[in-house]
Amino acid sequence: MKKIVLIVLDGLGDRRTLDRPTPLEAAKTPTLNFLAKNGSCGLHYPLSPGVPIGSGLAHTLLFGYSEDDYPGRGVLEAYGAGIDLQPTDLAFRVNFATSDENFRIIDRRAGRRGEFIPQMAEELQEALNNNPFGVRVILKAYENYRGVLVLRGSILHPIPDLDPQIEGEPLPFSKDEMTGRIVNWIVVQSYEFLKNHPLNKKREEMGLPPANILLLRGAGSIKQRIPFHEKHHMRGLAIADRNLYLGVASYFGMDTAKVSDEEKIPLLMERLEEYDFFFVHFKLTDVYGHDGKWEEKKRYIEYVDGLLSPLKELKDVVIVVTGDHSTPAILKNHSGDAVPLLIYGGNLDDVKRFGEHECVKGRIGIVRAADVLNLAMDAAGRMKEVGK
Ligand code: ZN
Ligand code: ZN
Repeated sequence: MKKIVLIVLDGLGDRRTLDRPTPLEAAKTPTLNFLAKNGSCGLHYPLSPGVPIGSGLAHTLLFGYSEDDYPGRGVLEAYGAGIDLQPTDLAFRVNFATSDENFRIIDRRAGRRGEFIPQMAEELQEALNNNPFGVRVILKAYENYRGVLVLRGSILHPIPDLDPQIEGEPLPFSKDEMTGRIVNWIVVQSYEFLKNHPLNKKREEMGLPPANILLLRGAGSIKQRIPFHEKHHMRGLAIADRNLYLGVASYFGMDTAKVSDEEKIPLLMERLEEYDFFFVHFKLTDVYGHDGKWEEKKRYIEYVDGLLSPLKELKDVVIVVTGDHSTPAILKNHSGDAVPLLIYGGNLDDVKRFGEHECVKGRIGIVRAADVLNLAMDAAGRMKEVGK
């Protein structure tokens, strides 16, 4: 049986226009082309054709789980932040944002700058624990304006997002009479606590928007699930630098390592003997897609291609390279386009270059993300015959 290495370039897929190929097609990618030439290619639709999905769900599917196993973004963020959730906990993904006094959201990401936010979050957590509902509040901030909020108590259930999504719009307070009442109180208190906070005054002196409100979304609780090593009979290590991706891997029972892009492949090489499955995540393809930066996305693909070069030397491994979804630079958002996929170490086809339109000619065809791990495991000699 071979080991499996799953490389995900977040938001890798893109769209051609009349005057421009996709960033992946335009990039010089000798490593990826080597793997494509000596492997098989195809594409995958993350959930189903034409349906854009978020990264947390997309990774749930790539790890061989179903849509029903996805616990919501908040839970994955909590796992990434190292919070051990109890079954009745309700977790939200948090943005520290900028609001005016009428709860109109001016900046959903507080200028994307994290100055003083962790300190304010710690103090705010303490203040929010003085609530009249008997609910324990855990609040952690990380990665600039991002964070996670966990409510621990009884009778909590998932509610719609308290996030207008569009700047200039008023915050949509919850209409739910139980959980919503508690969460509305938390949002109003966060504004009261943060609006005149001395550290926000410092931010304003630095020319930064104040981080004076919490936007809460992706509410969820943990679900029954079969751990990755039991489901797939592989011990897995996730190597990433962002909380969400470490969180989704850790939620399903993989070990995690948080290192920078340059350190990811050396770490994999170092720990090769310890695990059967490696998930390695590269984020910036998605970020440049969201920012509409075609050129930067192309250059980042070339950079990652260089980092992946040592993988060519590995024997007895199956290497999968793909994205979790498409983030076309022209859309500045996720799309439901199929994502290029290569599997090296199993069967062969005639595709010699890794790119959206080359992959269409590959033998894998177009599958769904939930099939990708089965294909890799079959290539690795790890699948059991069904109906034998
Ligand atoms: Zn993604
Ligand atoms: Zn994205």
